[in-house]
Amino acid sequence: MSISEYTNKMKELSDRGRCLHFESGNRCNHIIGAHSIQKSGQLKAILEDGHVTHIDPRIGSIVKNEGALSATTVSWNKVSTFNGFCQKHDNELFEPIDNSPLKPTKEQVILYAYRCLCREYFVKKNALSLTEKCIKDGSIPRKMLEPFNIGFKHGFTSLTFHKGKFDNSISTKRYDDIVFVCYESKSKWQTQFSGVLYPDFDFLGGKLQNIGNLNATLNLLTFFTAPTKDGWAFVFAWHKSSDVTCQRLLSSLSVIVENGALLEDAIFRFSLSCCENHAFRTSWWIKLSEMQKKVILKRAELMASPDIAVPSTYLSFGLEGIASWSFSKVA
Ligand SMILES: [Zn+2]
Repeated sequence: MSISEYTNKMKELSDRGRCLHFESGNRCNHIIGAHSIQKSGQLKAILEDGHVTHIDPRIGSIVKNEGALSATTVSWNKVSTFNGFCQKHDNELFEPIDNSPLKPTKEQVILYAYRCLCREYFVKKNALSLTEKCIKDGSIPRKMLEPFNIGFKHGFTSLTFHKGKFDNSISTKRYDDIVFVCYESKSKWQTQFSGVLYPDFDFLGGKLQNIGNLNATLNLLTFFTAPTKDGWAFVFAWHKSSDVTCQRLLSSLSVIVENGALLEDAIFRFSLSCCENHAFRTSWWIKLSEMQKKVILKRAELMASPDIAVPSTYLSFGLEGIASWSFSKVA
């Protein structure tokens, strides 16, 4: 299978929507392109002429640039949509975050986190289905795909576990199951991030969990930016079942800040390293120096490349002095 065939198949799968709501059923017939970064409050804040800039994730453009990543300006409706909810469930479930700024209440935080998680679930399920199809029909040799497939499957099994936990907490309104740290900012909002990850190393380079351990259910962290009444906020949030790893990660962030690192730099480094789902204000990107752009793209390449080992200290150093935000309050 060629790269363009693979890309087309992936597109076909992501166009085929399905509702991920915990009560989904045969009435979920109107699937919409839900925004994992919501349009009204989040994307609108950084749109310029209906466009934002992002690091181009398309395999075709990466191959064209011989493996290098590049930034590109795109229409807002091309960013971060996923066909993961029917209209009824999307409207009902996300009403407290789509129509009100983040206070933050626990209900709002769990809903933002859930939307990040569902996007990842949707994307990873598509990738897994396609890989398995290719192995089955022999369109890509089994021995090439099998190592990736084992990793995919393991990641997806943990993701399914976490979706189950969130489904349960949200459907029974047990919002106390969410733990979060919220950094509020009144600076101009230039960058949007939302994502999930299995934290592997902390901000001091210490190991948190072995993501290669196929027998373990991995702890999951979600993070996102969101509008507040007076500005915006960056939030780390996790279900209490992932407390061990996430508390340690956040403690290490406090330690490096106590030791003199800037919180703003550390969170920017984290966001750029751990987040595929992002959008930048175009004029902000344009005003960066060539060196700053290069540093950002190089970091994204390091994280995306299967051939380069990511150092355990990837959250400890790098990307200093680029973030143009400052945090005034921690909730
Ligand atoms: Zn539905």
